[in-house]
Amino acid sequence: MLRAHTVFHCASVRSLYIHVPFCAAKCHYCAFFSAKPQGDQVDRYVAALVCELELVAPQFQPKTIFFGGGTPSLLTLAQWDTLLSAMDRLGLTGAGEWTVECNPATVSSDKARLLAGYGVNRISMGVQSLDEGLLERLGRVHTRDMVFRSVEILRSAGIHNLNIDLMFAIPGQTREIWRRTLQEAVALRSEHLSSYEVIYEEDTALYAQMKAGEFDVDEDLACEMYEDLIDIAGAHGFRQYEVANFARERPAAPTATITQTAPAEIPHHACRHNVNYWRGGEFHGLGPSAAGFIEGVRTKNWSNTQLYCEQLEKGQRAIESYDRLSPLARAGEIAGFGLRMNAGWPLAEFKETTGFDLREHWQEAMQTLVAEEHAVVDPERFALTAKGLRFADRAASLFLLDPKAAQMA
Ligand code: SF4
Repeated sequence: MLRAHTVFHCASVRSLYIHVPFCAAKCHYCAFFSAKPQGDQVDRYVAALVCELELVAPQFQPKTIFFGGGTPSLLTLAQWDTLLSAMDRLGLTGAGEWTVECNPATVSSDKARLLAGYGVNRISMGVQSLDEGLLERLGRVHTRDMVFRSVEILRSAGIHNLNIDLMFAIPGQTREIWRRTLQEAVALRSEHLSSYEVIYEEDTALYAQMKAGEFDVDEDLACEMYEDLIDIAGAHGFRQYEVANFARERPAAPTATITQTAPAEIPHHACRHNVNYWRGGEFHGLGPSAAGFIEGVRTKNWSNTQLYCEQLEKGQRAIESYDRLSPLARAGEIAGFGLRMNAGWPLAEFKETTGFDLREHWQEAMQTLVAEEHAVVDPERFALTAKGLRFADRAASLFLLDPKAAQMA
């Protein structure tokens, strides 16, 4: 059993995730840990986060950083300045890829310039839709005009790597509306595009509406929309490299090179931070509710901002749980994550990453997927087909071994 004050110092960790648990309002589909800030809560969170950064900074030089949430762009200029100057002092700046998630309602020139000045070089913008009616339906706080204005602001501030997040299969969204949003989104010339099907999570307003029979879920329409996504993104120079992620090949501007995965496996503008997750890499997770994975141990911080701040104010990490999976169980998870990528798993790389042979331990799962034409295998690689990628979650579940069997391995 690991103790609550265990501190990991591992020079091999290359990625840092930071969770910002605040949003201006709750979107109707959202189950992430986030809430509207109260009183001086954000200032207190920033101070606590600086303490947490101080605890992990020794021997750690992130190659990728990702500020997610929540809405990181909700922090004021002064709060960002406090945070970024602390990261600079701790030697945590200079990552080859440094992403901050932004809501178009909270992007400003001053903030964009400040972020870029400290080395943030990638912005992920939660657009979700460019249809005013659907934005309202989703409870988004921004308008479509704010999206176009934000792109201009970010480009002027020197952000050359921009991701646009979209959603499809939104209740009330027709195929025509979706195709129009896609066309307008690709015209924004972002380097990266992420697009997810709406999922109905318990404790969300959308889930309650679905349960109340306010709309029907049309799986066939969702499949057609996913095909539209692949067609339109592909026709506009994006290469799909993961179930929901597309990126451009050519650099728009010189950027640092990170070679965590062979260049041919992923397009130039693929999100290296997420590729690290899908390839089973280690990462620190800071901020309320954030998960981390280091030396075979999964950690999770308290999903309670008050408690998170109190712990850090006492100089302690705010970790709620430590979970050490058996190497085989972890390898099964990694197999499933990696199959989300179009490149699938090069068999040798999987063995190098996990110590296990995919063909030996998951032969049955592989055979099932190949027989269904959801996957292909050759002497070098196992990968899902286009049809298989549509059902990647189900494919991944076949690699999660019975935990008892995995413990005994
Ligand atoms: S902005 Fe993002 S994190 Fe915040 S409520 Fe909406 S979906 Fe959730």
